[in-house]
Amino acid sequence: MDFTKAQKRTEELKKLIRENNEAYYVFDNPKITDYEYDELFRELKRIEEEFPILKTEDSPTQKVGGSAIKEFKEIKHKYRLYSLDNSNNYDDLRKWYARVKKEYQIEKDLELVVELKIDGLSCALSYEGGNLILGATRGNGIIGENITENIKEIKNIPQKLNKPLNIEVRGEVYMSISSFNKLNEDNIENGIREFANPRNAAAGSLRQLDSKITAKRDLKFFAYTLISEDKSLFSTHNEAMQMLKELGFDVNPNYKLVKGIEPVVELCGRWETERFNLDYATDGMVIKINDIAKQNELGFTSRAPKWATAFKFPPEEVWTKLENIELSVGKTGAVTPVAVLTPVQLAGTIVKRASLHNFDEIERLKINIGNEVLIKKAAEIIPKVIKKRDYEDLGIYDAPCKCPSCKAPLIKQEGEVALYCPNTLECPAQIKGKIEYWASKEAMDIDGIGEAVVEKLFEQGLIKDFADLYNLKIDDFMQLDLVKEKSAENLYNALQASKTPTMTKFLTALSIKLIGKETADLIANEFPTLEAIKNASFEELIKIDGIGDKAAQSILDYFNDENNKKILEKLEKYGVNPQGSAVEKVSDIFIGKTFVITGTLSKPRNFFEEKIKSLGGKTSSSVSKKTSYVIAGENPGSKFDKASSLGVIILNEEDFYSLIQEHKIAESR
Ligand code: NAD
Repeated sequence: MDFTKAQKRTEELKKLIRENNEAYYVFDNPKITDYEYDELFRELKRIEEEFPILKTEDSPTQKVGGSAIKEFKEIKHKYRLYSLDNSNNYDDLRKWYARVKKEYQIEKDLELVVELKIDGLSCALSYEGGNLILGATRGNGIIGENITENIKEIKNIPQKLNKPLNIEVRGEVYMSISSFNKLNEDNIENGIREFANPRNAAAGSLRQLDSKITAKRDLKFFAYTLISEDKSLFSTHNEAMQMLKELGFDVNPNYKLVKGIEPVVELCGRWETERFNLDYATDGMVIKINDIAKQNELGFTSRAPKWATAFKFPPEEVWTKLENIELSVGKTGAVTPVAVLTPVQLAGTIVKRASLHNFDEIERLKINIGNEVLIKKAAEIIPKVIKKRDYEDLGIYDAPCKCPSCKAPLIKQEGEVALYCPNTLECPAQIKGKIEYWASKEAMDIDGIGEAVVEKLFEQGLIKDFADLYNLKIDDFMQLDLVKEKSAENLYNALQASKTPTMTKFLTALSIKLIGKETADLIANEFPTLEAIKNASFEELIKIDGIGDKAAQSILDYFNDENNKKILEKLEKYGVNPQGSAVEKVSDIFIGKTFVITGTLSKPRNFFEEKIKSLGGKTSSSVSKKTSYVIAGENPGSKFDKASSLGVIILNEEDFYSLIQEHKIAESR
């Protein structure tokens, strides 16, 4: 690959990975499979290795994914948390081992501990004097979310240890496959969205603002890391695992101490099939150097330990029957085929549907209803149809000519594979899709307005487009038999609270063809007001880096359309007022946060004060409950003690610089 191509692909990959990180870590709602994500990640790593100049510090390969959601109190981790590097083949595993041996400059085989990689959510638990005082998510590794109350609802996490130790325990919170299936069955019955896989169900259940909900979900914890300042407690990982068990933690029983890499390869091969007998999801194996002193010698990269690696299991495949092909009409009118399958067990879950992408794909696969098809997934999300049995020829499913929702003749646009329903104004499926999208997490993020509520509001004639949502009264929601008094009020309040979105959210939510969140962001950054965007010319739009001819034309078409103009007028009348670009560009790491500085730092205090102010934060001379962070230097004194007693996050100078880096990265997106 030449440099220009590599540069272009790097940018594409970074963008894709960031978008998917957000869907996965922030919203617990991934859009692609882990396997597909890992392929993108590895491709980026390969290009960065070939062209080191492209390896910038904002690259996802240099970071631990995930950030805290604002509703939880943030905490700074006492000890930083990391991700794991991974490979999906034995050769890479052997190369990792050879590299490690080379670093230690030793010939003889090393002791390694091989564990199952539990597919859940990692958590850090702090104990003081043997009492559980804090439970936190990993977040970006430096700052996580304080979820102590929810952690206390997990029955197999001891709240008091049988020894008065000061330790940190890390492990994975997970949901068993049987509990996951049960939860999804209940969700279907109650008209609530199903979780894609046990990992997302565990994350969604743990990151609940109401710990009573967490308590109702059957979550469990496997401990796999013990950290103590007392170096006499254990000197190997194997001893640490033993100690965790003695302290009352559940440790996954399937870990093994081995010597050299070949037994590791054998264990990985064995668990590739044996994992299906377990009632919890595993997505691979983790291999760790046993000797803690040796671990410390190797240390960490900015993202992962050098003394450990993960082996990811290959995606799984299974044969089943294609019972039907359902046609779904999206918000922009694209008609997509979905495979309805004879239910089949795949990676621990029952699969009933699979993606077929578009009608060209059906033609390529040469499939029809009744065919036996091979479906594949990597223990997550909607699986894909890979192929049909070679010997089975049932012809090819005919692409539809009419919209399944409004019966309008479908069209194919030049250069596009999708079939479209052109009846944008009247097609019920498109209208409902747009309203649902408007309220979705990716767009305006209005709590409670999902598929079921939109369906009812639309069917009862209460709304004809998303602007009408803002004209609804509490009584209108009460009319829907699925909404109780309290939730009617909540829905109304959520809508009122959404009236000042950022420009990016607003533009994204309009469902303009070819304009997703990233493109909306580019436009929002260029034009300060909605008026300016409406009046932008084709030339002005294509001048923006990242906006091509088609996207520019789509924006012009959207704002020139009489029906859209009416919707925008209604939104304005109901007080929906998007905020200009300046608001969106600022990351919320510093904005609205109050810092107190104490102790002796390497630079004068006003250096830090100016820095904080320039980034949008405030400084104060005294610590209170409202203080967001205390920056503590040497000999910090009483402010430090007060901050500790109030649970305010205390940063050292290095942490402060890490925050600035995080902020810059967030700003540059
Ligand atoms: P990871 O899941 O690949 O590996 C690190 C994590 O493994 C640790 O943080 C820990 O939580 C977990 N773990 C489980 N068992 C363990 C054990 N025995 N010892 C140590 N750790 C153990 O890395 P990540 O940074 O958490 O996430 C990256 C992965 O998440 C990707 O490889 C991908 O699979 C998935 N992801 C998917 C999407 C998507 O859109 N599908 C997006 C982002 C991330």
